[in-house]
Amino acid sequence: MAEGCLHLEGLRVGGANGYVCPVCGVRFEDLEEVRRWVREAERARDEAYSLVEGDGFGEIALRESQREVYRRRRVMYELENAARVPFVRPEMVLVMYDGDRGVYECRVFYKEPRPANAMESFAIGASQEEILEFRSDPNPIVRLLAEKVEEFHQVRGKLAGDGAPAPERRVFYSSEL
Ligand SMILES: [Zn+2]
Repeated sequence: MAEGCLHLEGLRVGGANGYVCPVCGVRFEDLEEVRRWVREAERARDEAYSLVEGDGFGEIALRESQREVYRRRRVMYELENAARVPFVRPEMVLVMYDGDRGVYECRVFYKEPRPANAMESFAIGASQEEILEFRSDPNPIVRLLAEKVEEFHQVRGKLAGDGAPAPERRVFYSSEL
């Protein structure tokens, strides 16, 4: 593990089943490795606890290490939840450019019966950076939407560059998803 990096921006899906810190690039092979990272913080917290002897310094260290435990657990829960969402391929995705908000609105349609808790709408900012960020989201539907938005965004950018009017909406059918 890279020295010193606390992976403050959380972890993203990267590679087969692994997760990557976008800051230092360290890879976690699976959720079990992420859980070990949480347990390390819990051990550090327990050590800080045993050092508290009524001085303010020790208590600050304890509070900080407790906060770190919570932060790492949040990262882990998010990844665990995303890993639990079964991936159901949509039947159709409608992407609409909203110039006022500077976002791409995505509407997701599924074959009936619609899967429970399926994501039906999602907005992605119309910038390459934001699109790239969602390309590595732990949720596979979000990754798929980001991929389609990127495709549309590039086509629109090219047309605008040629001085041609860019379309405001694009439908992706199941064969393209
Ligand atoms: Zn890192």
